[in-house]
Amino acid sequence: MKDIILIAPPAAGKGTQSKLLQEKYHIPHISTGDLLRTATEQNELGDIVKKAMETGTLVDDEIVLKLLETRILKNDCQNGYILDGFPRNIKQAESYLKLLNKLNRPLGDVIYLDASKETTMKRIVGRLSCPTCGAVYNDQIEENKPKRFGTCDICNGSLRKREDDNLETFNKRYKTFMEETYPLVDFFKAKGCLFIVGSGISKERTFNEIEKIINRG
Ligand code: AMP
Repeated sequence: MKDIILIAPPAAGKGTQSKLLQEKYHIPHISTGDLLRTATEQNELGDIVKKAMETGTLVDDEIVLKLLETRILKNDCQNGYILDGFPRNIKQAESYLKLLNKLNRPLGDVIYLDASKETTMKRIVGRLSCPTCGAVYNDQIEENKPKRFGTCDICNGSLRKREDDNLETFNKRYKTFMEETYPLVDFFKAKGCLFIVGSGISKERTFNEIEKIINRG
């Protein structure tokens, strides 16, 4: 199976689709955010990295590249992997191509999950979750609203909003994405490996489209 790189604006469904792909195709989901979190928890990386992660700025490319190289050399990546959160910008994409060249590994498919700013904004700003049972709702999307305002349908718990799920944080993340990461769409298009999938309707529909791409002849 080819490696898969998922690129998407915040809340376009990258995490969800990665999980679905991992379950169905038994290839690992590699999130550079998770790799960095694990490394900082194990004290392998210093305070500078922790600070960058806390403030949402990018960690030094060399550190991310090194962690990624170590991860993709593991046995479970032999049959492919799903890359989520990397590359974040053109410079990282160029370094990644050099790494693949060194490892003699083809690039694979790059899939852009396309969802409008309005859709992703509603997903983030309207997100509510139940601290008791973990159920997730959305008060801006009709079909995901709880039946009773502020109350969990499953366990009657009081629903909560995450502090960083607000319009200001969303706008900041979206702007960074458009400025730094979105140019990768043209970068990979020029390499002939880019596919665009609409991710604004349902996760099932999006997954179906992704499967058509990765299973094409
Ligand atoms: P994420 O889990 O993808 O939201 O990433 C969490 C944080 O990890 C980001 O805000 C960055 O500080 C760092 N990070 C994740 N991926 C990268 C990357 N490709 N390059 C640099 N920093 C990254």
